[in-house]
Amino acid sequence: MLLEVKNVKTEFKMKKGMVKAVNDVSFQCEKGEILAIVGESGSGKSVTSLSIMGLLARNAKVTEGEILFKGENLLDKSASEMRAIRGNQISMIFQEPMTSLNPVLRIGDQLTESIILHMKLSKQEAMQRAVEMLELVGIPSPSQRVKDYPHQMSGGMRQRVMIAMALACNPELLIADEPTTALDVTIQAQILDIIYRLREKLGMAVLLITHDLGVVAEAADRVVVMYCGKVVEEAKVEELFEKPLHPYTMGLLASIPRADEDKEKLYMIKGMVPNPMNMPAGCAFSDRCEKCMSICKEQEPAIREKDGRKVRCHLYTNDLEVIH
Ligand code: SF4
Ligand code: MG
Repeated sequence: MLLEVKNVKTEFKMKKGMVKAVNDVSFQCEKGEILAIVGESGSGKSVTSLSIMGLLARNAKVTEGEILFKGENLLDKSASEMRAIRGNQISMIFQEPMTSLNPVLRIGDQLTESIILHMKLSKQEAMQRAVEMLELVGIPSPSQRVKDYPHQMSGGMRQRVMIAMALACNPELLIADEPTTALDVTIQAQILDIIYRLREKLGMAVLLITHDLGVVAEAADRVVVMYCGKVVEEAKVEELFEKPLHPYTMGLLASIPRADEDKEKLYMIKGMVPNPMNMPAGCAFSDRCEKCMSICKEQEPAIREKDGRKVRCHLYTNDLEVIH
């Protein structure tokens, strides 16, 4: 197994006390697999990816669990060991490329900087590789574009540069946190297509972090749905779309806009994600769930698993049969 996240708990120190942003999360990602982690903001999906990368904010800490990458616990690594792993074996692309690219450095220099650092190539070889990477992500006339500054490129092109940077060192795992959110729909589709094709070509695994289940339909192999810091459902992408089990997943699916439907009539899950300082008793989704039963307000559902499908909901038996 390439990546095994085991019972990870990540807590933030706030004025009013500790907040569990990630609470006993487990999942695995195989070599070459695209695993989507889906949830609204506040679900803990980004904190999960930052926990893996060792890039948590100062007031946050993984307090329990293990993050095994090729069998080694990343939580045991020193800061310098993590730096060597990042950008080399594990790369990350962020939501907003403008904030992650250096505005005063030419694209080519930014790319070669990390290539030289991780791959021990000469300046000239690194520039050659930079041009190849830009070509790979579909940037026209790459040998010209390496001379551009970030502001001379469109948002879609900058996002491609970010992907090229993340992939320049042949990572085994790419973490893409909302890689398309800031982009228009056509460019979103192109970026996802690039990620998909590069996975095929380079054989890397991808953790695709998104709030949009629509995005995962095309690209992902498997999906983990998170809510309030916990995994509430996990399934192969076809299974999830064909037969979602968790009421939250059902709501997310019903709220995907479709070309043939009136946007006005789009389903919205009622209510809001609860405040982490003030979680409801029992199931965290109970305040918003249309299927809520009395037990849901009292007892937190355990995660149940069968044949690789998982769900955390009182509606199901241990065999994932519907109770009622
Ligand atoms: Fe809804 Fe109850 Fe299932 Fe929670 S446990 S999702 S409240 S049915
Ligand atoms: Mg996020």
